[in-house]
Amino acid sequence: MAKLRASNSLLRGVEPYDPKYLPAQVGLNANETTFDVPADVRQAIEGEIARMAFNRYPDPMANELRQAIAEWHGVEPDQVICGNGGDELLFDLALAWGGEGNALLNVPPTFSVYAANARLTGTQVIDVPRRADFSIDQDAVVERASRGDVGMVVITSPNNPTGDVAPLAFIERLLQATDALVLVDEAYMEFAPREASAEPLLAKYDNLVILHTFSKAYRLAGVRMGYLLASSAVVAELTKVRQPYSVDAVSQAIALQVVRHRASFDEGIALVVAERARLVSELQALPGVTVYPSAANFLLVRFEQDASTVWERLYERGVLVRDFSAGPLTAGCLRISVGMPQENDRLIAALQTILA
Ligand SMILES: *Cc1c(COP(=O)(O)O)cnc(C)c1O
Repeated sequence: MAKLRASNSLLRGVEPYDPKYLPAQVGLNANETTFDVPADVRQAIEGEIARMAFNRYPDPMANELRQAIAEWHGVEPDQVICGNGGDELLFDLALAWGGEGNALLNVPPTFSVYAANARLTGTQVIDVPRRADFSIDQDAVVERASRGDVGMVVITSPNNPTGDVAPLAFIERLLQATDALVLVDEAYMEFAPREASAEPLLAKYDNLVILHTFSKAYRLAGVRMGYLLASSAVVAELTKVRQPYSVDAVSQAIALQVVRHRASFDEGIALVVAERARLVSELQALPGVTVYPSAANFLLVRFEQDASTVWERLYERGVLVRDFSAGPLTAGCLRISVGMPQENDRLIAALQTILA
């Protein structure tokens, strides 16, 4: 009885997201912070979990966490919505501001999830590619966004995988030029200069949405928690499409402790920023290597030697990075997350041998 009806036609030809997970001694492939949450925070989390009622459903809107995030960012609680990782919120946005008649304006090379979500929700993708130096073609984005068929524009700042920050004057120009949602994905903003964030514009523009995650600077990639800051009107729409219990009680409790102890993470963020500067200068000293400036916790690096071969030789030496060389706009490039000092030392030592 081999019978199976074909699935939704939107799934035709879709490749499942594959993070290319491989075991490695030095994992610099996924832009995680490579060390654990601080000991005092871990202790506070364990205390909360010990008291938790696992038999009860969680608060769907995570109100206690929402309140704490709102106070942190100086907005109202109804301007905050939490999700099962930033990725879930990206999907919710695709459902709410995508679909027929609502194109996604994408600025590649960038995070692949935006275009994947568009495809799954039957949303047309309009690409306005970055220039060869990865800067945004600002005039082209503003012009294209203002034509009336765009539901959402995504500007990733700092951008993944290129590491550059989008100028605020450009984001404001874009907000003024279109009624489309302007999603500024600030997943890596904690590693950038404070004044780079689009947050001050929230008070002025109802169509601005800012994405944050606990996965990178706050070291909770395994927990799954992200949030959006937006106007209350945007949050109200998103509550219609979100999965009611996707943000589980354990994750809510963990993230709440992290928000309350957020000052304990500053030292780790500063360490990553300092190591990023050291890595830039040590990588630049290697033969045939171009390092793109980055405000995030990773570096995009272009190799004159075949980048896939470099990737393989690194992996043989226990160092896992991310290969972007197959992408048309990132030919020759590997993306390398900034690790702890000893991990970065191993990376540099391995590259010295490989490129010699
Ligand atoms: C990592 C990342 C996210 C969100 O990750 P989650 O782990 O789902 O919170 C969002 N945007 C970009 C650009 C990222 O790199």
